[in-house]
Amino acid sequence: MKVPFFNTDYPHQLLKDEIHGAFQRVMDRGVFINGPEVGLFEQQFGAYHGQQVSAVCCGNGTQALELILRAFAIGPGDEVILPALTCFASAEPVVAVGARPVFADILSGEKTIDPEAVKQKITKATKAIIVVHLYGLPARMDELKEIAQVNHLFLIEDCAQGHGATFRGKPVGTFGHAAAYSFYPTKNLGSLGDGGAVLTTDEQIANKVRIIRDHGQTAKDLHVLSGMNSRMDELQAAVLSVKLSKLDVLNEMRKTVAGFYRNRLCAHAEKPPNESGHVFHQYVVEVGDREKLMEYLTSNGIHAAIHYPYLVPHTPAFSINERFPVAERAIKRILSLPVFPGISKDMRSHVAEKINAFYAIGEDND
Ligand SMILES: *Cc1c(COP(=O)(O)O)cnc(C)c1O
Repeated sequence: MKVPFFNTDYPHQLLKDEIHGAFQRVMDRGVFINGPEVGLFEQQFGAYHGQQVSAVCCGNGTQALELILRAFAIGPGDEVILPALTCFASAEPVVAVGARPVFADILSGEKTIDPEAVKQKITKATKAIIVVHLYGLPARMDELKEIAQVNHLFLIEDCAQGHGATFRGKPVGTFGHAAAYSFYPTKNLGSLGDGGAVLTTDEQIANKVRIIRDHGQTAKDLHVLSGMNSRMDELQAAVLSVKLSKLDVLNEMRKTVAGFYRNRLCAHAEKPPNESGHVFHQYVVEVGDREKLMEYLTSNGIHAAIHYPYLVPHTPAFSINERFPVAERAIKRILSLPVFPGISKDMRSHVAEKINAFYAIGEDND
């Protein structure tokens, strides 16, 4: 049996007619940029997070973070604290605006940024903390929010892996001063191409982002600053409106698969935290003998992955000579298992059986 790591067969089959309808509507209207579909999705995505939440769409998640940093006027001489274990794209925007990324270690269980490590990294130059809800598990927003408040720092949420996740019942993306979303096709809410959004309850910040994303224009040909081009196109917005209507259903399906793995996998696989607000963008276990296990899974048709094999500060791009003991231990042991909505019962059983078999064989040899 072949088990892919990810595919979009299920949601796209489920929503086929509506997605085709959205395509047709956009084609018939003949407006492809800055039209009503983006406006509608912005309203819907903001409302999904609560009253008074504004969403501003943009080109992708990386640019959503850059737009936020620019709206907060973060630049040269400023420091931004972020976790050592994250997608490279969490750090790139900090460099893009000329500020310095300062990396902090993670919590061993949750894999999100360690609030105590954050405190130790704060200097006079610190302007912001970028919190990442890694794998779909909300970071410790109560502690992080307090640290940001006490130290007068901007709190930015990187929600690219956390669509629909909640912390103590409240949606992520609403704890900080602004949040960045990505709609890359593999995310929990994915478009059919690139897309991103900034979320904020601060209307002034939302307006700044609207201006910066559109070449610094406040009105046609009136450029009040030198901005960038970061737009979402109408087709993607129309598809995202359709898919947003099923986000919670699809997240529940991920949770069901996660529950299955939790019950079925042997104790050799350390399970991720079982928080109700976790939306399992990735289902990440910690294992010993990871490379051999991966080979064994591959030979049994199962595609697993590593998120991520390198810490961002230790990539050649940064080459920062600093130790992050918790994150360094984690990256040698983490393994992401297929958890996409629509993975069949046979497939997930196959994954669990093969992992258990791998460790049972090991025990026989002892
Ligand atoms: C995917 C991702 C991004 C970047 O989003 P893009 O749309 O690919 O630019 C940023 N941060 C995290 C944590 C991500 O997973």
